[in-house]
Amino acid sequence: MAQQKATNVTWHDGEVSREDRNTILRQRSATIWFTGLSGSGKSTIAVALERALFGIGKLSYRLDGDNVRLGINKNLGFSEADRKENIRRIGEVAKLFVDAGVISLSSFISPYKGDRDEVRELHEAAGLDFIEVFVDCSLAEAEKRDPKGLYKKARAGEIKNFTGIDDPYEPPTQPELHLKTDEMTVEDEVQMIVDYLEANGFIAKQPLTRATDLAEAH
Ligand code: ADP
Repeated sequence: MAQQKATNVTWHDGEVSREDRNTILRQRSATIWFTGLSGSGKSTIAVALERALFGIGKLSYRLDGDNVRLGINKNLGFSEADRKENIRRIGEVAKLFVDAGVISLSSFISPYKGDRDEVRELHEAAGLDFIEVFVDCSLAEAEKRDPKGLYKKARAGEIKNFTGIDDPYEPPTQPELHLKTDEMTVEDEVQMIVDYLEANGFIAKQPLTRATDLAEAH
């Protein structure tokens, strides 16, 4: 965990709480944290889930590996220390979104269990919900899919520290959800998450049939 460098800084509370923002949005915000090998399906599922949630009038926002590495984390690489800092910062950003009332969808390989556990603890210490989703796919299948051609490069020695090839992936031991993406369809995976969110009181289903319903529903 990073050390607090600045001294004499304290959190300044506002007069509108996360609960107030959740009331406006008619949802209970949380972080949904997708973890799994490259090519396991994290981004694909997050995109499909975001669309499905939008369709029932729920606000979510995707935080995605490459997008974050092109911006806030552009100064970080793939060494163990940099991966750790990458996950720590993303965890803090996800927390801000949850505090803003949004369901944050975080898709990062996040290969080390200890780093994911730290993000969970950061959330829990702030009273925020953390839903870990294990996007489980065999290395053979992920390598066969190879949507960005990265396994090919890693096998050729052109990428070092590649998770699953020459860097470890530590699977979650107690994820809230376990999706086996070499056996399930994307639709079933999204449905499983939506069912979980409904069953645990994060969302109540309100199908929208027209764009104008969005205004009427809120
Ligand atoms: P990641 O974000 O984990 O690196 P991506 O979502 O970018 O993975 O790529 C996963 C690839 O696997 C996509 O090309 C997607 O279409 C494909 N795919 C095939 N079956 C599934 C499934 N059941 N769930 C998710 N992705 C799947």
